[in-house]
Amino acid sequence: MPGPLELVAAEAAECTKCRLAAGRKTVVFGMGDPTSKLMFIGEGPGAEEDRQGLPFVGRSGQLLDRLIAEELGTTRAHCYVCNTVKCRPPENRDPKPDELDACRPYLQAQLDLIRPAVVITLGRFAAQWLLETTTGITKLRGRSYPFAHGVLIPTLHPAAALRGGAQPLAEMRADFVRAKLALADAGVTLS
Ligand code: URA
Ligand code: SF4
Repeated sequence: MPGPLELVAAEAAECTKCRLAAGRKTVVFGMGDPTSKLMFIGEGPGAEEDRQGLPFVGRSGQLLDRLIAEELGTTRAHCYVCNTVKCRPPENRDPKPDELDACRPYLQAQLDLIRPAVVITLGRFAAQWLLETTTGITKLRGRSYPFAHGVLIPTLHPAAALRGGAQPLAEMRADFVRAKLALADAGVTLS
């Protein structure tokens, strides 16, 4: 019997509710443990994600996996990973407001079924959209915000750390430590 999240994923796999359906190869719904208390939300699938149907499987994903291991002492399989939109925007442009609105019920279902205590957003875009603000990511990061069923901790996009060297990587590490403490506060130990 498919679980409730699998039913939503199956629905999304056929979705044509916005124009991004036209350019995608695969709907990238999300992956990981649907009972996890920690969820990562990125912007949208890139080329490699679109090909494989899985989030964060390119170079950014490798860095994400490394930070999950080094700062949280666990693996991606014990977290849940997804994006604001489930289909790849052409040329990796930012998702448009009507695309985000069309796709929001899928993310909302993921949040309501998984009920993460901590959400880590990856990059400017996801943080600004979910916190409904235009404040820049360097100002937004460094603290946590009440969100959905727990808190949201904004961090940089791994691509920024891959481009930018030591400083952004150090900031990401600090944000992951913040997430670890927030999980402990919520009484969660990641397996
Ligand atoms: N960047 C994102 O924001 N999401 C992915 O899934 C991959 C790269
Ligand atoms: Fe549907 Fe979301 Fe894909 Fe648009 S991006 S077609 S709303 S799954």
